[in-house]
Amino acid sequence: MNRSLKTALVCGAGGFIGSHLVKRLKAEGYWVRGVDLKHPEFSQTAADDFVIADLRDDASWLKIFDRPFDEVYQLAADMGGAGYIFTGEHDADVMHNSATINLNAAHYGQKAGIKKLFYSSSACIYPAYNQEDPNNPKCSEESAYPAQPDSEYGWEKLFSERLYLSFNRNYDLDIRIARFHNIFGPEGTFVGGKEKAPAAICRKVAEAEDGGEIEIWGDGRQTRSFLYIDECLEGVRRLMDSDFVGPVNIGSEEMVTINELAGIVMSIAGKKLSIRHIDGPLGVRGRNSDNFLIQQKLGWAPSKKLKNGLIETYQWINRMVQKNRMA
Ligand code: NAD
Repeated sequence: MNRSLKTALVCGAGGFIGSHLVKRLKAEGYWVRGVDLKHPEFSQTAADDFVIADLRDDASWLKIFDRPFDEVYQLAADMGGAGYIFTGEHDADVMHNSATINLNAAHYGQKAGIKKLFYSSSACIYPAYNQEDPNNPKCSEESAYPAQPDSEYGWEKLFSERLYLSFNRNYDLDIRIARFHNIFGPEGTFVGGKEKAPAAICRKVAEAEDGGEIEIWGDGRQTRSFLYIDECLEGVRRLMDSDFVGPVNIGSEEMVTINELAGIVMSIAGKKLSIRHIDGPLGVRGRNSDNFLIQQKLGWAPSKKLKNGLIETYQWINRMVQKNRMA
């Protein structure tokens, strides 16, 4: 290995964002080790070295820190879409698994003397009481407190933010924290219960016959913003190269209702479908990124139109749906 290369460890490299991040770091010339419970589902990893390991186990960390790293990206988490994190059925696992991973990452990262650690927090940390009005949610970074996330997933993220901040304070562990807002794109989970709204809607539209019907959880008037994977990674890399610790939002400010999201996907697919609203786990009523701080600190904020990312995502999911039909 060329010793002058920058080196990175990506935890959660078998997941959606992690596998794309590995590609991005490779394109920038890094030497990359990925680690996950599993290999990426939809393509070969681009990592130079990929370790299958359980990051809840101490032994895994001793193994993966058998060499120094310039940067660690900690994305591993027990997570999924609303069908996974808002039903209450997975709360104990979500909290225990993700907190254990983060406790280990902070402890072993500091012991290994890693130079910089990135942590992926979430918009789910924001208080439920600021997200009741779908047209006017408040998600500026300082509004996180007094805390009242609407899920245990959000509470764990908030705990882990504070964990890394205290390692930064007491042990000089150089950290960066971003709060991701609904990241989507090709090669993300689109079936099986852990998929998020954009992927689920793309799949339902791809599966439906023109003139048919799709189901949407709730009345579809809940609002969200969605950020395409490439811009998410641009934000991560810019944050990592900056002096700003965070936490900072990495999200889009283009807020839409779920009904509007479905309408955009239908127009991309060229299908006219009716929407049947059914009961389902929903999360907060409204959520949008607030990009004042990222713009101020990094001189950059996501700006791409939602539709452009959805075109890429729909085309990929449509191909997967047609392929699965033939199989
Ligand atoms: P993902 O589920 O696709 O990736 C997470 C990966 O972590 C998975 O591959 C999983 O196998 C791995 N993992 C879980 N437990 C592990 C363990 N014990 N040991 C080793 N690996 C383990 O999720 P993603 O969408 O790529 O999200 C990445 C990170 O970003 C997560 O921390 C998530 O909470 C955060 N985030 C994502 C979004 C989003 O919209 N995708 C939004 C906010 C925050």
